[in-house]
Amino acid sequence: MSPLFNPTARAELQLLHDPLLRDYGVRLRVLRLDSFFPQLSGNKYFKLKYNLQQARQLGYRQLLSFGGAYSNHLHALAWAARECDFDAVAVVRGERAAQLSPTLQDALDWGMRLHFVSRSDYRRRAEADFLSDLQSRLGPAFVIPEGGSNLLALRGCAEIIAHLQGAEAGCQQLFLPCGTGATLAGVVSGLSSPAPKVVGVSVLKGDFLSKDVSRLLAQAGIVRSAVDWRIEQRFHHGGYARCSRELAHFIRDFSSRTGLALEPVYSGKMFYAIYQMLAAGEIALGSELLAIHTGGMQGLRGMQEKMDKLLLTSG
Ligand SMILES: *Cc1c(COP(=O)(O)O)cnc(C)c1O
Repeated sequence: MSPLFNPTARAELQLLHDPLLRDYGVRLRVLRLDSFFPQLSGNKYFKLKYNLQQARQLGYRQLLSFGGAYSNHLHALAWAARECDFDAVAVVRGERAAQLSPTLQDALDWGMRLHFVSRSDYRRRAEADFLSDLQSRLGPAFVIPEGGSNLLALRGCAEIIAHLQGAEAGCQQLFLPCGTGATLAGVVSGLSSPAPKVVGVSVLKGDFLSKDVSRLLAQAGIVRSAVDWRIEQRFHHGGYARCSRELAHFIRDFSSRTGLALEPVYSGKMFYAIYQMLAAGEIALGSELLAIHTGGMQGLRGMQEKMDKLLLTSG
């Protein structure tokens, strides 16, 4: 395996300095997966690790996966594939735009092939005949599902816990943002008691995530987890990749108080959730909290304009 996946470095665990947190009487430490690897950002490193290892062991030369034009997953996969000498092909949702998104442009520059499919075809991305059709067109490939979310991802995400270096034992709650919930399932599977309660902040509208996480955990052989976890569904701000005026203002104010940069798709919604719950008195005074900054800052390039517009309206 490439040295990429044998790091000796540890992700930084940063105590957040924010007068507001002092007022609420809590301590919040942030696991900085966003700065763990500059190009292979955040949780995607952990989700891809054993997928690439498995692909190599099975003798595949090419990796195939799915995503939208701003996908952190495709961005990370393109980089990891190049580092580990795989060919990579992305099945991208929707028409090819005249000007590629910065995300896809990076992927292309790193050697990833881009295969655009209609939104209706994209919906078939888990169907066996669609997958074999894709492979007969694009060549045999190790297929990684959208977001990289499979059992191999769980195994990799369980290793996030080691980066907490035991800090989790003395904490009451651990927060992370959830898209598919695979990272949360991996984190839950990697914890041993005494463990904090794990709170996944859903960045999507809908109430399917708890079921999805339970299914992933069951696939990993965990039917009744000893770790208490739940999905928080109140803070999606309209749905995936949607941003509200409140969220844009929150991110700007948070970053200027703490110096920590957020993006609106994942980390922004997670920290927003924590601060809303603090303000509502839902988190006990004196709590020790952990949050995982899962990265994804590359995606900000596609949203800055929208964010700036939202900031022009007063909060
Ligand atoms: C992909 C991603 C997530 C979501 O991870 P899931 O395992 O799908 O829940 C969270 N944060 C960032 C920055 C991501 O890129």
